[in-house]
Amino acid sequence: MDPCLFCSIIKGDIKGDIVYQDNSVVAFRDISPKAPVHILIVPRKHIETLLDLRDEDQGLIGEICCVASQLAKDQGISKDGFRLVANCGPGAGQSVYHIHFHLLGGRPFSWPPG
Ligand code: AMP
Repeated sequence: MDPCLFCSIIKGDIKGDIVYQDNSVVAFRDISPKAPVHILIVPRKHIETLLDLRDEDQGLIGEICCVASQLAKDQGISKDGFRLVANCGPGAGQSVYHIHFHLLGGRPFSWPPG
């Protein structure tokens, strides 16, 4: 079985442009940014999709939202607004099966998303 790409970045086996990390969460710049600021916020714990979350993961998701809030301030995108997105499954465009939240900012966003 192929090793998980994001687990490899978290472990340091593959280089990531890491902007934040703590005991449970790592955030790094997306390799193919869709906005001037595009950061992926991921749990260290390997969870394939949002559908695989368990009750015990509630705190982890809360931590990720708090990290997103702090990063938005640190990266200078909080004033104009930003987007926090998690794609789940092929129909939503999930391409890496280790849950992650896209923090996007630095340009206007339309709604609904494509
Ligand atoms: P998703 O399509 O929602 O699963 O998001 C996966 C994201 O991972 C995409 O935006 C990719 O550009 C990004 N990505 C893929 N490989 C890497 C990598 N080595 N380092 C950083 N981001 C990556």
